[in-house]
Amino acid sequence: MGKGTLNNFDLDKFKRILGLRELFLKMILPLKFPIILNIEPTNRCNLSCTICPRRFSIRKIVDMDWQIFEKIAVEVARNGPILKIFLQKDGEPLLFPKIGEMVSCLKSLNAAKNVSIISNGTMLNPDLFISLSKAGLDDLIISIDAVEPNSYFGLKGRDCFDQVRRNFLEAAKLKKEMRLTNPRLKARMVERKGRGAETEEFRKIWYSVADAVDITPYHTWMDSVNDYRVYETNKERYPCSLLWYTGIINSDQTVSPCCIDYDCKGVLGKIDSGGFSAIWNGKNLRKLRMRHLLEEYSRTKICEYCQYWLIKENLKCWLKRKYRVKW
Ligand code: SF4
Repeated sequence: MGKGTLNNFDLDKFKRILGLRELFLKMILPLKFPIILNIEPTNRCNLSCTICPRRFSIRKIVDMDWQIFEKIAVEVARNGPILKIFLQKDGEPLLFPKIGEMVSCLKSLNAAKNVSIISNGTMLNPDLFISLSKAGLDDLIISIDAVEPNSYFGLKGRDCFDQVRRNFLEAAKLKKEMRLTNPRLKARMVERKGRGAETEEFRKIWYSVADAVDITPYHTWMDSVNDYRVYETNKERYPCSLLWYTGIINSDQTVSPCCIDYDCKGVLGKIDSGGFSAIWNGKNLRKLRMRHLLEEYSRTKICEYCQYWLIKENLKCWLKRKYRVKW
């Protein structure tokens, strides 16, 4: 196996293909605390992507309060280390002034085995990259999404393809020169219907530069944005497994059922003295899970037109048996 092949080996995809993720989930569910958590440092963003519904959001722009973040980090560590924390939801995480300190806090508490950031790459610079590396960041995923400036502009609403590309290449060069072992630098593209050739070109371009190429399927954010869907939507629906293993903490301390809740219309509660655990084990999430098990998807606005459940494991029969739901 050549070096490039090893670098670009996608373990998550491999596990999915083998059905190991489903098996793993069957072994560990139900959970007292999620194994994957998104913590949103800020919901500010400096781009206006056509594939992102954020531009329709009427959420107040808020940076996460540092003291609240520290409390959350301690609570996660007490229940951890969990598998993964993404420091991201609707905003651009590198706009948060203390993003390095956030990573450092989570890593020093051993809150998660993997701390990742998904960024648009516009704010990445050598100093920031080195500070994220020193803080212990495991993965830095840069959403590039295009192979040339015109298609980037059409998708992102800002003419900064060259800048993002340069920032990525500089970071990759630094990583090599300084022999840094982390973060893994991943080049991401959202896969869109009818764009197979562009996706393949993207893969070829970044294959030898990035530590991994991450092609992620497009979905319409509950039919909020253009229909470039890559899914067959006539599949029989099954309960969304995300509800059983992932948690989302928005920058204003509210908790959403999933990352699809871009406008916080599906908020389950706000973190207070009971911490995140009180919401994870609380009645609102229990009610939502039960609606899924009873196949009453349309009773929850954000789930009604969602396609994201299709990316995740179909645990339907197993979940229903486990929760003793008849159908
Ligand atoms: S079905 Fe969609 S909106 Fe509902 S919880 Fe799952 S991912 Fe979120």
